[in-house]
Amino acid sequence: MRSCVTCKSPEEEHRFLKPKEAAWLKKHLDVKNVDEYLVCLAPLDDGAEQCRNVRRFYVERPFREPLRLPEPE
Ligand SMILES: [Zn+2]
Repeated sequence: MRSCVTCKSPEEEHRFLKPKEAAWLKKHLDVKNVDEYLVCLAPLDDGAEQCRNVRRFYVERPFREPLRLPEPE
């Protein structure tokens, strides 16, 4: 299962979205501004890839279901 416990910690490393990711999220959420959103940089349990879970500032669950950015091409 893809899970990231660190999403629950406000100190965990997150960054703002890159332009391509912001464009994807705007489309996905149908909003004009995604400046408030951050993406989790923590490695997943298997350590292979980053979590990429999206949060709105420090709101842990801004969406009903966890939203993960697609992997970069
Ligand atoms: Zn995470």
